[in-house]
Amino acid sequence: MESIASNLQAIHEQIEAACLKAGRDPSGVRLVAVSKTKPAALVREAFDAGQLEFGESYVQEFLHKSEDPVFENIPVKWHFIGHLQSNKIRMIIDRVALIHGIDRYSTAEELSRQAVKRNLHVDYLLEVNTSGEASKYGMPPDEVLPLSAALFSLPNITLCGLMTIASPDIAEAKREFRSLRLLLEELRKLAPDPLKLSELSMGMSGDFEEAIEEGATMIRVGTAIFGWR
Ligand SMILES: *Cc1c(COP(=O)(O)O)cnc(C)c1O
Repeated sequence: MESIASNLQAIHEQIEAACLKAGRDPSGVRLVAVSKTKPAALVREAFDAGQLEFGESYVQEFLHKSEDPVFENIPVKWHFIGHLQSNKIRMIIDRVALIHGIDRYSTAEELSRQAVKRNLHVDYLLEVNTSGEASKYGMPPDEVLPLSAALFSLPNITLCGLMTIASPDIAEAKREFRSLRLLLEELRKLAPDPLKLSELSMGMSGDFEEAIEEGATMIRVGTAIFGWR
């Protein structure tokens, strides 16, 4: 297997090529390295190769891993990218830079309640089910705009953008990425502070170049960095 450092290097080259093709500035695309199921030592290896932001999907695994001594005194930024149940919010709220997987109003409400209680400010993304597959998490796209006023008014949390997991079919995926971008544009028209609502978290190992062409500002890449899970 290639080393993590060379995998990261290759991905940065692909990001640059995709940005060039799309006429975008590569500094507008952040790489979140998805480290779920991978040991802390490998995450540390990626950090030492220059990767600062990591995505985790499972609460218990994340809590355990993030407390590993290899992360003592180093500025790792954790993203929570998994589905988040309301009753688990309290466990991660003060440990993450961004929560990607909020997919219903009641969970956003609980996030806000917990943030107020701890006097914290929390950034989050709304997960949208752009594929319409019943098996996937995510808010149905047509529910997002009607809920926006209520979401924007929740204290101590900021909706920073939208997230989606696309279909495996690449042509489908491209359509879904585009629909997420268009939905964000509509949502921004309703936002009290549109500048803060700018993130599109979309694209994984198999489709991040297409996601970048459709406007991704954050890509979540696991397998292409750490190998198969
Ligand atoms: C696992 C996971 C990824 C990374 O997928 P890869 O195909 O390994 O790059 C990205 N986003 C979410 C939400 C995930 O759960």
